[in-house]
Amino acid sequence: MNDIPTRTLPARKRIALVAHDHKKDDLREWAVYNKSVLAQHELLATGTTGHLLQKALDLPVHSLLSGPLGGDQQIGSLIAEGKVDVLIFFWDPMEAQPHDPDIKALLRLGVVWNIPIACDRTTADFLLTSPLMHEAYEAKLTDYSDYVARLKPKV
Ligand code: PGA
Repeated sequence: MNDIPTRTLPARKRIALVAHDHKKDDLREWAVYNKSVLAQHELLATGTTGHLLQKALDLPVHSLLSGPLGGDQQIGSLIAEGKVDVLIFFWDPMEAQPHDPDIKALLRLGVVWNIPIACDRTTADFLLTSPLMHEAYEAKLTDYSDYVARLKPKV
């Protein structure tokens, strides 16, 4: 059997945070409650979410573009480059978003690269309290290896 390639998620995680407008209060409250754990990692976020979190947490948060202007795509490309280890994405299940294709693309890349993703508060609680948040972890890249195998010419 072929060895499946892996990617190492480091002990100090690079955590990307995104919340749609109706979920921003929820994410802010969750982040403030979990500040001591979040402070042990590196934080980045889409523009509006990032500014809001930096103010609420008084921690450095690297803010990218606002989601509808390309921020979700920026996070997706950082995931593909191995520069984001965890995605906390409180998307709004009750309202259509103008950048729906970008949201779908971000969630897709998170799965392709097998990073932990939390889309609601309960999952975010489970994720953040995992001992694996503080250890290096070898994520198996099964989608990547399946894709590469399919590219090989059949003989
Ligand atoms: P925002 O983007 O943090 O700039 O509001 C979030 C989003 O809508 O994807």
